[in-house]
Amino acid sequence: MGKPEPDDRGQRLLAEENLLRARAEAESAKRELEETNRQLELAIAHANQMTARAEMASAAKSEFLAKMSHEIRTPMNAIVGMTELTLDTALNGEQREYLEIVRSSANALLLLINDILDFSKIEAGKLRLTPVDFALRQTLHQAISPLAVQAHAKGLELAGLVRSDVPDALVGDCSRLNQILINLVGNAIKFTQAGEVIVLVEMQKRCGSEVQLHFSVRDTGCGIAPDKQEVIFDAFAQADGYITRKHGGTGLGLAICRELVDMMGGQLWVESKLGQGSTFHFAVNLQAVENAPVETPPKELSRLAGIRVLLVDDNATTRQILEEMLTGWNMRPTCADCGPAALEAIWRSNETHDTFDLAILDAGMPDMDGFALAKAIRRKDERAGMKIIMLTSAKEAPTAQRRKELGISSHLIKPISRSGLLKAIVTAVCPAETDGKADEPAGMTSTTGPRALQILVAEDNPVNQTLARCLLEKWGHKVTVVGDGLEALTALKDGHFDVILMDVQMPGMDGLETTVRIRRQEALGGGHMPIIALTAHATQQDRALCLETGMDAYVPKPIRREELLKALGDIIPATPAPASPAAPAAAAPDPQEPPGEEPFNKAELMAMMGDDMDLLREAGALFIETCPAMLAEIQDALKAGDGQALIRAAHSLKGCVGNFAATKALEAAFRLESAARGGNLKEAQESWPEVKMETTRLKEALTRLIGGEVSCDC
Ligand code: ADP
Repeated sequence: MGKPEPDDRGQRLLAEENLLRARAEAESAKRELEETNRQLELAIAHANQMTARAEMASAAKSEFLAKMSHEIRTPMNAIVGMTELTLDTALNGEQREYLEIVRSSANALLLLINDILDFSKIEAGKLRLTPVDFALRQTLHQAISPLAVQAHAKGLELAGLVRSDVPDALVGDCSRLNQILINLVGNAIKFTQAGEVIVLVEMQKRCGSEVQLHFSVRDTGCGIAPDKQEVIFDAFAQADGYITRKHGGTGLGLAICRELVDMMGGQLWVESKLGQGSTFHFAVNLQAVENAPVETPPKELSRLAGIRVLLVDDNATTRQILEEMLTGWNMRPTCADCGPAALEAIWRSNETHDTFDLAILDAGMPDMDGFALAKAIRRKDERAGMKIIMLTSAKEAPTAQRRKELGISSHLIKPISRSGLLKAIVTAVCPAETDGKADEPAGMTSTTGPRALQILVAEDNPVNQTLARCLLEKWGHKVTVVGDGLEALTALKDGHFDVILMDVQMPGMDGLETTVRIRRQEALGGGHMPIIALTAHATQQDRALCLETGMDAYVPKPIRREELLKALGDIIPATPAPASPAAPAAAAPDPQEPPGEEPFNKAELMAMMGDDMDLLREAGALFIETCPAMLAEIQDALKAGDGQALIRAAHSLKGCVGNFAATKALEAAFRLESAARGGNLKEAQESWPEVKMETTRLKEALTRLIGGEVSCDC
């Protein structure tokens, strides 16, 4: 083999050179790549660090918000609480108005803070569901009943139905479920001007004890534009600035609801058409309680099978819901959408001799309302045996007098619960089977059965307390006496009463405020407690105020037995008639007549006491005992120039002396009270000597009459 040619060598050298260059380039590219990689890793690490920081900042922000909201709630609760307490004291109209504004603004702020608290808790991942056993139908009823007041104020129909295949005993976070329902139903009422809001609960899926329920809240309101139907679920988002500004709100409600539904394993969405209304749907997973005790139907249910029921309501959905309930109990409902159609159905039923056993009437129908229809039925119906149940809003609830006049067996406050309706039907149709009032459902009052009454007397003055108690006990009633409105509310919680005799002016919570509270509670929970005002405010205006506030009747003080008896008889039919006045336990003493005119009219006094000398002794002794304190109270108020205290004290004395037919003492106390009410302290001061003198004369004369000791301190 020969040496390589110079050309070959040159090429080889060239190739080696290229190789070296390529290697160098590869090395450089590799280094560059490594550098880029390093930069990238640095960038990723930086980004991770930033994300972590952002997450921490967001969590810290949410936690901060949650803490802040919580901290703000504590003083807010104090503001609301103290405002409520101040509202329970004697205030003039202007002060009351200002405080009412403080209360409603504080409540609005509290709602907002609650929303922020919930929202920030969700954001911070701190919100946990608390599953408990609950009864679905009751939960739904409790959630929507309080909203009925707002709905009825706008003339909206509000109804809820849980389909019969949905189990009642469930496990889940019922307070959060409540929150979702309240939010959706509250919105539906807010954004609906006419028509109805209907809540429906249906079974979607069942797998063993796991159930998936579908809730829908349908309204006939303003609807939501298509491009806003998703946005509204974002926090602080609202569909229509103008409408929402009009109604207020934060735009947080739906965002919270969506998160809550999400936590319950479901979804929340809306279907809506502008101008036609919206339906908010959500499905949630819950657990059915295995082997839950089945609610035993009332024993009368079998007797109710086949009864003919006339159902009259102008709202088609409510008719459908009630019809479904009645059919489920094997009754035979016939529906009518107005009064004339109902009367025609009755006429036809008479023709065919298949008459109605029961009519369920909606009170709030246009043209001919439920009460007018009841009147027409009673006029036409030869079978006075047809029972009537009236469905009303809390405001339309009939007085006992009206129920009696129209022969209404019971009335239910809308929205109607299934259990409430069934109990009302049982009570109306099978009254013999029900055990008096104890079985009556919440939201229902009936007019069955004569009986001695359980009476709550709310009255601060001991003399009046004794008089009312003795009179009522003499008539066979059971009496509980309390000294002010708060005590009355507590007594109502603890005991069962048929009627309240309510003094209007009491220290602390007065009779008007107490009545408002009772009626407010009834608006939520149903029922109607008859309240008779017992007051020394005797003008027509005072009377109107008592009735406007929600009292059913009015008995002026001093209490006269005939007036009280009549009021009781009007309110509670078949109140036992009083035994004819008992012979005086002891013959009235024949006191030595003092020289000069007696401070009381003896004949009238004895009539007021029902010719009961024992009662006169008891009431008189109490007056003698308490009158020094009453006079001292007036004197103190005059000294301090305290107009409000003076009004209270003079009013109290006036109510008290009025019980003893003591005209002069009564007139003097009246003048003093009027002067105090008019802010004329000088005139009040001037009438004081006469008040003191006449009251002392009365006290001394009573002492002589009943044979007691005269104390010398007044
Ligand atoms: P808020 O009601 O406090 O504004 P929400 O989150 O509950 O907050 O509702 C957000 C918005 O969604 C409302 O402001 C309103 O514009 C719209 N919206 C909610 N419910 C309805 C409804 N039933 N009909 C019409 N618009 C509704």
